[in-house]
Amino acid sequence: MTVVTTLPDRRLLLVHAHPDDESIGTGSTMAHYAATGAHVTLVTCTLGEEGEIHVPELARLAAGEADQLGGYRIAELAQACRALGVTDHRFLGDAGRYRDSGMMGLATNEHPRAFWQADLDEAAGHLVEIMREVRPQVMITYDDNGFYGHPDHIQAHRVAMRAVELARVQGCAPAKVYFTAMPRSVLEAGMSHFTESSDNPFAEIGSVDELPFGTPDEHIAARIDATEQHAAKEAAMRAHATQIPASSWLYSIAGNFGAEFMGVEYFTLAVGEKGPGTGRYGWEDDLFAGLPAGEDPDRSPVGAAGVR
Ligand SMILES: [Zn+2]
Repeated sequence: MTVVTTLPDRRLLLVHAHPDDESIGTGSTMAHYAATGAHVTLVTCTLGEEGEIHVPELARLAAGEADQLGGYRIAELAQACRALGVTDHRFLGDAGRYRDSGMMGLATNEHPRAFWQADLDEAAGHLVEIMREVRPQVMITYDDNGFYGHPDHIQAHRVAMRAVELARVQGCAPAKVYFTAMPRSVLEAGMSHFTESSDNPFAEIGSVDELPFGTPDEHIAARIDATEQHAAKEAAMRAHATQIPASSWLYSIAGNFGAEFMGVEYFTLAVGEKGPGTGRYGWEDDLFAGLPAGEDPDRSPVGAAGVR
């Protein structure tokens, strides 16, 4: 007997570089769509082997010592996904295929399995397979600077965009592609809020222009208000304990700004038609805005791996 399971009508694919990027950058959006019945697929490109370790008793797992951090982070990521309500998580080319490249310019960029060294078509091919299976209408990844310049984030962008090109030929490309973004007005508000604070994460920075990110508000396409998911996002971030110390300024900002800081995420639109929006710049409040509702579910049977 052939069992064909169909996926929900709305399907969202996220392509991230390391475990923890999904939670910090898009955790509320993921939790929001998972909670409202969309199928959310997370693809993480590396295990984050080169990360710093903020839990002292685990410090010897580091790349230069036992080199076990990557394996450990698989479990942290699984816990984060549980917090976000996301059940479909994969590593690009399976766990361990691509290694964390480390910061730009380091010798780790040259490792034979470094994601930075990945053959673009081979890496994109792994993603196309997932697109063929899941048929996401919407994909989220980073802009061409990888949001802030990390080589694995830049490579995630390149691989994801190449996969869209290849998938288009096969008729399974997402209709819309978004990049993570931070509006300048939000950064400016955050910076001025912290001016008087002794715990100011922007203390070294004179203006928004000095940050490697910050998008003019008129270039933002979507503002996803998932404040109802702010606790899920914070729980997911706390699951990445080796990477985000409990004393992190992220949590102190969260304490000050609360639900809005954690729960609202912004995106630019790179591929596809912007749907109807609101406010001064017509920001969408839904990444599926403008897409035809209820696409024929027969076109999205789950393949052998997903038969349940
Ligand atoms: Zn990262």
